Amino acid sequence: MPPTPDATAPGAAGPDREVPDRGRADACPGALRLHAADDGALARIRLPGGLLTDRQALALAEAAEALGDGELEITSRGNVQLRGLAPHCASGLADRLRAVGLLPSDTHERVRNIVASPTAGLDAAGPDAADGAAGHVDVQAWVRELDARLCASDWAAGLSGKFLFALDDGRGDVAALDADVTLIAGPDGTRLLRLGRDGRGHPVAAGREITAVLDAARSFLAALRANGREAWHPREVSDLLPPGSVPLPAVSGTAPAVGALPGGLSVGLRFGRADAGQWRALVAASAGELRLTPWRGVVLPGALAERLPALAEAGFRTEPGSPWERATACTGLPGCAKSLADVRADAARALDAGAPPSGAGLSGVGLSSARLSGADVAEGSGLPVHWSGCERRCGHPAGRWVDVLATGRGYRVAVNGAAVGATAAAVAAADVTNEEMAEAVAEARRTTK
Ligand code: SF4
Repeated sequence: MPPTPDATAPGAAGPDREVPDRGRADACPGALRLHAADDGALARIRLPGGLLTDRQALALAEAAEALGDGELEITSRGNVQLRGLAPHCASGLADRLRAVGLLPSDTHERVRNIVASPTAGLDAAGPDAADGAAGHVDVQAWVRELDARLCASDWAAGLSGKFLFALDDGRGDVAALDADVTLIAGPDGTRLLRLGRDGRGHPVAAGREITAVLDAARSFLAALRANGREAWHPREVSDLLPPGSVPLPAVSGTAPAVGALPGGLSVGLRFGRADAGQWRALVAASAGELRLTPWRGVVLPGALAERLPALAEAGFRTEPGSPWERATACTGLPGCAKSLADVRADAARALDAGAPPSGAGLSGVGLSSARLSGADVAEGSGLPVHWSGCERRCGHPAGRWVDVLATGRGYRVAVNGAAVGATAAAVAAADVTNEEMAEAVAEARRTTK
């Protein structure tokens, strides 16, 4: 059965957009090809699996201070961006990255887009673990193999800088990110290869996982070139996939909870940003390894729970249940001149104001919603929310989410997208002032229809 159509994500590409947008030309920034943003040049450094050693993390902090605005920004693919760079600093940045192994290939640096389950190998992973409860395999070995083979393959340099690989250990976290090629571990050594947003997976023989992933990517590239187009569709390569297909298991898309985890710590960052001092606090708390997550957090494998107070003191989110969970924002002013507002500052005020008492607010702003249970809301499990300075909506989440769009007079709050397996739908939008926004957003995040 051929894969189902792969719809283009809503919104157009922009400087900080990292969700797949397969119909547009490839203008993604990299470590060598900087993007000219309104707050200076921007470099995006690919970190396969979000993996960093403590030495590499410190090198990034030093580069941010010496060459940029002193801040580091985690993207929705677990990569890192440096902003406010001088236009002539590219070679100096490249030298710093090469010295610590963060630029293994000049020709392939923008195609090393690999997300992986960030807590793989830390909890009760095992081949027989229940679906969704824990992983079945430590995908870090897959990350390293895929990265090395990508960089060693001449053809792979022709992939788009947007082309995304996801390696899911079976808990269904990164499998929900709508990557171009996803490999999902199952119980008893089973593996499934998923293309785009297909609802079915193709079984892959153990030991051939990365070969199958690379074959799928290469087939896409060949199909594009044969058709002389930049966009692709899974149906075009269905004949080149492993034979047979089965329904995919449910994928939760759940980010690691913040706080102490089995086998380490997990922290959240405000809009994925940290200054160099905060970054050094992360390194100090680590046991030598950091894993940046696609949810703009950081997992510290092996770090001790006694480090949590220092991380909280440094400004990281270490306790669950905050309105900041799954809250994102585009760059906005002053970094992007297209923006109608300083969305991060406005969003931060709204999030710090927190949720209003249950029952307040809906009638005042015109949104209607059904409610999750009180326990769900208290645990911060409402919808993701994303603030945008213009209709491009750079970096918005996949699936169903609360859309907060600057209008120049305030914000428009709506619920966009569709839950996995559901029909896309949007709940009626409400125009609100900055003062009304916190209440409207909190209510919209409780929406279940
Ligand atoms: S204002 Fe925001 S959404 Fe619009 S282009 Fe700039 S970063 Fe993207």
